[in-house]
Amino acid sequence: MGEVKLNVKLIRCTLNPEEIVALAAKLCYSPVKNIDELQEKISVDDQQQFIKKLIDIGHLSPIEHATFTFAIEGISRSCSHQIVRHRLASYSQQSQRYVSKESNESDLNNIFDYIVPPSLANDGEALSIFNKFMEYAQHTYNAIVERLNHLGYQGELAFQDARFVLPNACETKLIMTMNARELLHFFNQRCCNRAQWEIHALADAMLREAKRAAPVLFNLAGPGCLSGACEEGSFSCGKINEVRRKYEILQ
Ligand SMILES: Cc1cc2nc3c(=O)[nH]c(=O)nc-3n(C[C@H](O)[C@H](O)[C@H](O)COP(=O)(O)OP(=O)(O)OC[C@H]3O[C@@H](n4cnc5c(N)ncnc54)[C@H](O)[C@@H]3O)c2cc1C
Repeated sequence: MGEVKLNVKLIRCTLNPEEIVALAAKLCYSPVKNIDELQEKISVDDQQQFIKKLIDIGHLSPIEHATFTFAIEGISRSCSHQIVRHRLASYSQQSQRYVSKESNESDLNNIFDYIVPPSLANDGEALSIFNKFMEYAQHTYNAIVERLNHLGYQGELAFQDARFVLPNACETKLIMTMNARELLHFFNQRCCNRAQWEIHALADAMLREAKRAAPVLFNLAGPGCLSGACEEGSFSCGKINEVRRKYEILQ
């Protein structure tokens, strides 16, 4: 297959995520006699104002009740390595142990899926060097699987060792679930201009999906500089106004 592109979908989330958040928070502050009474108190208008206030004052534990599950494909192993550093999430990732990357040697175009960084894609010579290496990695992977099969290592016993020659560019797929609080933290770090381009693009795509599902919860989501000064100090991109405009209209 060769080069592939990012594809992100929000495949599930908590039913009425903003309602459950408002309900949980209201419980903290309302002298209700029972949960039925509390549920009756929740109206759509009420939720919006209430959730905005919660986020403003930093009472964030109620928003942990809303969870969001994303299907992510077309990212590199280099990107997935950064994603899984976020510990308050659940992950399922396509295995390079059980899923073979073997290709048919007679078809040179038939190589494993991989991601091309834009800096290389925009330069013919750099792209040619990069693509040649991908072909070489595929060729070497095939040769190692064949040799290991010959030595009696079949299936995953061969794939688990042959994968050592696969590059960081190799494409991977994930299903990832985060609660809304962790998502806000993820967007805070990864929508920042200081984040690496691939995880930044992924975070923007996830934020678009999250905003569609829960516009109030994610209304002010994005890099830290949306709601205050830049936290990057001397590493600041210096484009705070541009960044704020981008996330104001991001949908
Ligand atoms: C621009 C950038 C550059 C980076 N460069 C590097 C690098 O060079 N090398 C490198 O190794 N990593 C690097 N990272 C990754 C970074 O160090 C974090 O591992 C990653 O961003 C996850 O952030 P986190 O730990 O805040 O978040 P999460 O794991 O998502 O946790 C969320 C929050 O929960 C709390 N928390 C979670 N676990 C604990 C715990 N055990 N103890 C106390 N509190 C906890 C913290 O408040 C944390 O902020 C970089 C990240 C960015 C955004």
